[in-house]
Amino acid sequence: MAMMDEVAPAYVRLVLALGEHDADYVDAYYGPPEWREEVRADAGTLEEIEDEARTLIARLRRPFPGDQGPAEEMERLRWRFLVRQLEALIARVTMLGGERLSFDEESRALYDAVAPRHGAEHFEAILAELDGRLPGEGPLTARYDVWQQEFVLPPGELDAVFQAAIAACRERTLEHLELPAGESFEVEYVTGKTWSAYNWYQGGYHSLIQVNTDLPVTIDRAIDLACHEGYPGHHVYNALLEERLARGRGWVEFMVYALFSPQSLIAEGTANFGIQMAFPGEQRARFEAETLFPLAGLDPARAEEYYAIYGLREGLAYAGNEAARRYLDGEISADEAADWLERYALMPRPRAEQRVGFIDQYRAYVINYNLGQDLVRDYVEALGGTPDHPERRWELFEGLLTAPRTPSGIVEATERAEQAETG
Ligand SMILES: [Zn+2]
Repeated sequence: MAMMDEVAPAYVRLVLALGEHDADYVDAYYGPPEWREEVRADAGTLEEIEDEARTLIARLRRPFPGDQGPAEEMERLRWRFLVRQLEALIARVTMLGGERLSFDEESRALYDAVAPRHGAEHFEAILAELDGRLPGEGPLTARYDVWQQEFVLPPGELDAVFQAAIAACRERTLEHLELPAGESFEVEYVTGKTWSAYNWYQGGYHSLIQVNTDLPVTIDRAIDLACHEGYPGHHVYNALLEERLARGRGWVEFMVYALFSPQSLIAEGTANFGIQMAFPGEQRARFEAETLFPLAGLDPARAEEYYAIYGLREGLAYAGNEAARRYLDGEISADEAADWLERYALMPRPRAEQRVGFIDQYRAYVINYNLGQDLVRDYVEALGGTPDHPERRWELFEGLLTAPRTPSGIVEATERAEQAETG
């Protein structure tokens, strides 16, 4: 559609321009280098960026009143994606201009979704169950920490274990998805970051994945990171968007990735759900006992115990959102946020403090991991991709990686499928 083909390059330039005001904003860009150079020479003020974004939204909306967009499905998804990404860009501009949004307002404005609330009692119930499973006496977080230290990867084995995990995730992904020829990524070990790992997509089907070694790395991180950052997570998502949309359809808006945008909920949600795609059910603990535990010098007989506790602990994921909401809404201090994470997310103090640093830097972005995963799972399962229908599951998962979906769009599709089921 000619109108969207004209809006798309203007959108790319706007994202790059905002990146000149906000160092974390542009997560990836592999379009023409001269576009970036032009923007660097003259990025414009925040007001100019906002005005231009409003003009582009008006152009998108003029032929399509309401929220439906064009009739053809891929065109409609593209249209809605561009509208939502531009609306989020405006929200980020106003935040940089000093406007204060509540955590939930920010979540809605930037990520097109709001995380559910959980009171302390939700987490207390899970902690009580963990209490009966972890050895020793005294505070639960300290006991968990002692127990978990037995599963730390020796620094000398870190890369070998990661490479084995990556190979396994890639092999399992290739059984279901066709990836662009020549796709690859490299792993680098870094320190001094607020995140535990990061995928920097370079374009040309290549990623650089950085793993932060500031804190001890436990065995679960190998598969988590190999799937989340690599296969079938961020690396695959970016490579497929480049192949199918940026190159295949000439949709240039996919040559740039705005971090604080609805696209991030889809990216983090599919990356986290990707772990269960590659290793459904018991397969993970089995693979780890056979391959990764021996490689790391850990007792393979303990893999099952490790993943039983790990599964329980996953129920505490929303504790991180609660800490972030209270902290960013000014109800608690940074120190109290770390206390909350220590108590309800079972994070040892150094990890809790690292996480508060992450919240300071990325704010409501934290919802993209767990809410994103839940929205992706609900969508895939509501449309028939239940664990006992693996082919349909992969087909729907691939659909999320290869079309411009929005968080509110997948929620609506989930609700429609659920209504058709019951009605
Ligand atoms: Zn991620």
